[in-house]
Amino acid sequence: MPRRKLIAGNWKMNKTASAGAQLVNDIKAQFECGCKGCENGPEVLVCPPFTTIAAVIEAAKGTCLQVGAQNIHWEESGAFTGEISGDMLNELGVSYVIIGHSERRQYFGETDETVNMRVKAALAHKLKAIICVGETLAQRMAGVTAAVIEIQVRKALAGLTEEDMANIVIAYEPVWAIGTGKVATEEEAEEVHKDIRALLKKLFACPCIAENTRILYGGSMNDKNAAGLLAQPDIDGGLIGGAALKPAAFAAIIKAAL
Ligand code: PEP
Repeated sequence: MPRRKLIAGNWKMNKTASAGAQLVNDIKAQFECGCKGCENGPEVLVCPPFTTIAAVIEAAKGTCLQVGAQNIHWEESGAFTGEISGDMLNELGVSYVIIGHSERRQYFGETDETVNMRVKAALAHKLKAIICVGETLAQRMAGVTAAVIEIQVRKALAGLTEEDMANIVIAYEPVWAIGTGKVATEEEAEEVHKDIRALLKKLFACPCIAENTRILYGGSMNDKNAAGLLAQPDIDGGLIGGAALKPAAFAAIIKAAL
């Protein structure tokens, strides 16, 4: 069974509720995302800010556009100012959650350990987790990309079972490529994706885990470079920031994944 591609938009801290609903309408106008057009194509997901999720879910009704969140806390409730729980996300009706984005790691002290706890919380709440990993420019220049990615993946997946892996997506996002316009070459991206798949083979007894787990590329993916990246054998979709806010570009990326 070929892996179904996933095109996921990370809206970051952009779009109020009304602007988010408008963006969904604009995406719908660009792309026939009634379930007919999407059945055989990629899964399409948008991850707006928490306060925009309900409006986006409403605007996406009747389409196959899925809606996700950008974070989840590992505790059920309590004194965790600014955080969001699995129950809260379940009640909203999201299907995915992004975990460990490099901006969370860089600006908000996210670590491999907290990433792992958040992943387990997502699974406990029947949410699919998109786990972000990626090296900095300094790490790439130092030739330690493979080692850095291996540690991040191992720690993010610590304690997970083969059954859990059905709900895990990994996003390789080189930090130097995020929001910079500097995209990894197809070869650079494919090399890391292949390494991650080889690591999954080592981590889980069943070869089906490595075969079935989707690994997305993220980092300045746009309508111009998407087709080449998505044609790589181990690249199963994209996590898209800037271009996900531009309906025509996002629709073109979706089409490139068809
Ligand atoms: C991201 O935020 O995950 C991302 C890949 O951003 P951009 O596409 O803007 O580089």
